[in-house]
Order: sequence, then C-alpha cells, then structure tokens
Amino acid sequence: MLPQEKNPLLDFSGLPRFADIKPEHVAPAIDQLLADGRATTEAAVRAKPTWDQFVVPLEDANERIGRAWGQVAHLHAVMDSPPLREVYNANLPKVTKYWTELGQNQELFEKYKVLGGSKEFSSLSNARRKIVENALRDFRLGGAELPPEKKRRYAEIQEELARLAAKFSENVLDATNAFSVFIDKTQTSGIPEDILQAAREAAEKDGKEGWKFTLHMPSYLPVMQYADERALREKMYYAGSTRASEFGKPEWDNAPLIARIVPLRREMARLLGYQNFAEVSLVPKMAQSSSQVLAFLDDLARRARPFAERDVEELREFSRTELQIPDLQAWDAPYASEKLRAKRYSFSDQEVKQYFPEDVVVRGLFRVAEALYQVKIKEAKAPLWHPDVRFFEVRDSSGAAIGQFYVDLYARETKRGGAWMDDAITRRRKRGQIQIPVAYLNCNFSRPLSSPSGSKPALFTHDEVLTLFHEFGHGLHHLLTRVEDLGVSGINGVEWDAVELPSQFMENFCWEWDVLREMTRHVETGLPIPKVLFDRMLAAKNFQSGLAMLRQIEFAVFDMRLHSDFDPAAGNSALDLLAEVRQQVAVLFPPAYNRFPNSFGHIFGGGYAAGYYSYKWAEVLSADAYSAFEEMSDSSGVLDPRTGARFRDEILAVGGSRPAAESFRAFRGREPSVEALLRHNGMIAA
Ligand code: ZN
Repeated sequence: MLPQEKNPLLDFSGLPRFADIKPEHVAPAIDQLLADGRATTEAAVRAKPTWDQFVVPLEDANERIGRAWGQVAHLHAVMDSPPLREVYNANLPKVTKYWTELGQNQELFEKYKVLGGSKEFSSLSNARRKIVENALRDFRLGGAELPPEKKRRYAEIQEELARLAAKFSENVLDATNAFSVFIDKTQTSGIPEDILQAAREAAEKDGKEGWKFTLHMPSYLPVMQYADERALREKMYYAGSTRASEFGKPEWDNAPLIARIVPLRREMARLLGYQNFAEVSLVPKMAQSSSQVLAFLDDLARRARPFAERDVEELREFSRTELQIPDLQAWDAPYASEKLRAKRYSFSDQEVKQYFPEDVVVRGLFRVAEALYQVKIKEAKAPLWHPDVRFFEVRDSSGAAIGQFYVDLYARETKRGGAWMDDAITRRRKRGQIQIPVAYLNCNFSRPLSSPSGSKPALFTHDEVLTLFHEFGHGLHHLLTRVEDLGVSGINGVEWDAVELPSQFMENFCWEWDVLREMTRHVETGLPIPKVLFDRMLAAKNFQSGLAMLRQIEFAVFDMRLHSDFDPAAGNSALDLLAEVRQQVAVLFPPAYNRFPNSFGHIFGGGYAAGYYSYKWAEVLSADAYSAFEEMSDSSGVLDPRTGARFRDEILAVGGSRPAAESFRAFRGREPSVEALLRHNGMIAA
C-alpha cells in the first residue's frame, strides 16, 4: 500500500490531482477509505446520538469515499483506458456493497430514530433536520423497520425485481439485435447519402449485397423518416413495435415478465404498509399522490388535444394531397411529418451552425449567468485530465470565490456519450471553514477542425447550444448553493421530479432573440444571426408539439395507472390498460399488433416506474419559473437581476434543504401553473 501522502486519491486538501492519479492508486485508496468508513460506522453506533458526535463523523468519512470514487468514476467516463476500466470494474462492487450495507444498517437506523426524537432535533437548522428526516425515510423505504419474516420477503422481492429488470432489458436488446433487413437499389429512394453509406458498409461487413438496416435508432429512424418505399417502412415498423413480444422468439417475450413485475411491486408496497407501488415511488418525490399526478396529466392532455388534433389533420391532408397516401398509418407518420417540416421551414442545422462558434457561445452563456446572479466567471488554473479541458472560477460581487468548474466539451473515443453535470466537491462548512463547490460539465460536441490555413473554431448546432445551457443550469444549482451541510447541499436531496427545473430553465434563454443575437457571430462574415432565420427556427420549434405532448402524456398515464389503480389480480393485462389509456388520450392509434409495453425500458428495466410523469412535471416548473423573467421583459429584459437574485435565493441556493414545492411557491408566490409551458409550446397565444 502506498503511504497516504503519495496516493493522490487520499489527498482531500484541494482540487482533484488529475495529473497524478494512476490506475494503481485506486484499489489501495478505496480499500483504505472503505475500511475507515466501516470503522467510523461502528464508532458512530456507539457514539452519543447528537449531530456532532453521530452525524458529522459519518458525513466526513462518507464524503471522502464519495470524493475519491467520484474522481475514479469521472475518469472512467471521460478518459477511459483498459487499465482504468479494469480497476474501475474491480472496485465498483466493493463500493456498491458498502453503500448497500450502510442503507440497511439496523443500528444506524435506531440511532437516527433517537436523534430524530431528541430535544436537540428541534433546535437543528432546517437543512440538518431535513438530512435526518431523509435518512429515516430511506431506511424505512429500504425495509429496515419490518419484522424479520417480512424483511426476508422484502429482500427476496428486491432481488427478483432486479433480476426481472435486467432480463427485461436483455430481451429488448436481443430482440433488437436479431432483426435486420437487406434492401436493393430500388428501395434506397429518399434515404440520405450518409445513412446509405453506413448501411452499405454494414452489409459488406456481413458479406452481403445491398444495404443493411436494423432496429437501432441511427438506422431505424432515418428509414421511417425518409424511405420513399412504404412497404419497407411498414416492415421496419412491424419489427420495431413487436420486439420482445409473443410474435418473436418465446424466450424473449417480455409479457410474462411484466405480468410478474407489476404484482411484485404491489406486494413490496403492501409489505411497507402502502396501498400500491405508486405511493412508495412518490414518497421521496415532489408530487403528493397518484391522483394529483393523474389530474395534472389529464389537464395537460385536455389542453394539448386540440393542437394534436390539428397536427393530425394537417398531416392527413398533406399526405393525401402531396404524398398520395390516402390512409395515413403509423409507419407513414414520421415520413409525412419530415416532408411537411422540410416544406414549411426551409433551413438546415448546417446553416444555423455557422453562427455559433464556441468562444462566442461560451461567453454568451457566462454573460447570462453573470447578469442574472451578479457573479463573475473567469478562466483559472487547475490540474486537468486532458488538454481539451478548461477550468473556471465563479466569484461574487465582492470578489470572493464561491465555486469552480471544469468544462470538457468535445467528443473523443475515451469519453462516454451524452452530456452531463457531475459534482467533484460539494459545498459545506467543515470545522468552521466553507468548502467551495466544484462541478464537472461534460459534453460530446464536435471539436475544432484544423485546416491548412490555421484552425477553425468549433461550431455548435442550436441543439448543442441548448444542451450546454441545460448542463450549465445543473452546474449553477450545484455551485450557487448556500447550504452548509452535505446531504442537502446543491442538488443533493432535491426531489427527482424537480431536479430538472434549473437545467430546463436555462434552455429558455436560447430561444430569446435579445440573448441569442448576442451569442452569435458568423464564422466567416462575423455577422450576428439574421432575424428571419431566427424566426424560422422559432416557428419550427413548435412543429407538431401537440402530438409530441400527447404521446408523452399517454406513456405517463399508462405508467402511473399501472402502478396505482390497476389491479394485476383482476385478469386484465398491461396491454389492455394501455388500450384503455389510448382511448382517453391518443389522437393517432397504432395497429393492434403494437406491443409498446414490451420494450418500455424506462419503467420495466430502469428507474422510472411511477415516475415517467417527472419529465412533464419538471417542464411545467421550469417554464413557469422562466415566465417570471418574461414578465420583466418590458422593463429590464429577461436578464433581470432582481428576479435573478430571487431565483437564486429561493431555488438554487436552498438545494434540498426544503421541499421543492415550498421553494417554488417562495419564488413564484403561488402554486405552479401549466400556462407558461403551453405558451412556450405554441398552445396559448403569447
Ligand atoms: Zn438534466
């Protein structure tokens, strides 16, 4: 084992030492930190149940594990290499086991209960009381309070559910991989050249003639959107919408798994003393009850419906008159939509991109944050994991540093896909000193092209600009917190269905002419984006927004009802329930063979069960919060610093230290309203 001072993962005195961390540091550091953590837990259950003697040592030890492992996980995500992957995978089970043990530690639970009922508890700050309450809640939901017999059954159910979820996802993947279609020249009509090239190469790899298409999205979607041959689209649609069903290989059929998962979840909920699984799922969320969620979705559906009906009517009319498709089917809708969109709004991503060079966009983004929150953002020095990475400091109006962040924008082979924000260090007061927060912002944008005449800046699509604003919104939530206790500082402890508020909120500024104009400069002419082009982008933004919204609501209602009022013992299947939901919600109906639930991985293979509504829920909050800034646009514009200060004080700064519903009310002065979301989607006149 390396001495502590030689192992950079055991150095918590400042920023992560990315230049020094080597794969061989990981196991010794993690082993030592986990041993320290276990020793601290043992001491804690014997300590006096006070904040200082019981909670603080646990927080310190667990923070060190989180910080060290966070650096390893971060490097694994952005600088993957075979030796690092090996140590990551070798250490992950140890870390997971540690957290599971902690969550089920009966003695800790008892100790938290004593603290929660003590005289000291009522004198603790809001943040500290919330941390204790959250701990008690999580122990209870983990079955810690059950008598031995029920605890055993609870563990059995958890294990079986984990197995079923993994099998569900595997079946979807296997069924997806099992299908392919090879087409000839006559069938390629309409499909873009770059897609065809990839399909040609895929066929060659199989030693086959023609072009190969599969059910993976980058292959499937372009066929559905562009292929002129209707029979090809229908064939692909059938294969895609019957994946993992009784129409394919019996061992990949997910229907029996669904029929097992739903009652098991209900049984688990009943063990914990709840009526149904939705009640359990909603305990740590902002929404109060399944009936509240269903009423919310129903209201949104009712308002979106006329727009969705208009969308469908337009699409049918367009298909009939311009595409000679008299009976629009599910496999025609994406194709006809794409044709209608291209006809109505003639501009390309490629054209828009020329106006968004990296430096202008990044400066524009920082200017928004600086104007709203009266901070200054400046580049600074720190050890980095790659030369592409940049590091910045946030200072308040007095010049004091309040946060720091890394920005790693470009895609590379060693980085996983997507864009995300992660915390490196969380704000807290430690032995009197404030530890300032540090965040990672990671994206997968295209890097600058080097040409013989020197390098051109990286150019971003408008979608990429939205992504950058979104992730920076998560970053600001982490960095602008004023909470001094780890468990509810920044995004820690914020409800799942409210955590996307600050991120989606930031996206709105990218649709604001006064803001956007300032962050554009044509890469060759140096001119800002023309208003006519911006207006076309804005119009295209809401193309078929009614249809898109109803589709999301259909999934969310199905999910919520399946886990609340649906009785798995009454003889109906999940598919029957979906048919019923569609009768109430949908305006476009798929063919009877469609088996959507069999590949609904969010709720059967992932963590979204009785939580799919969260997407729309958080969108309502972010749109409504943003409308407070729109209301200021007559006086100081949307970058109004007074509204910004209130948003920071009531939403960003408080993190998880109070319920999100309270924070929202404190900022907006009322309950959330769906009006702003509808207006932003073109469903209410501005
Ligand atoms: Zn997000």
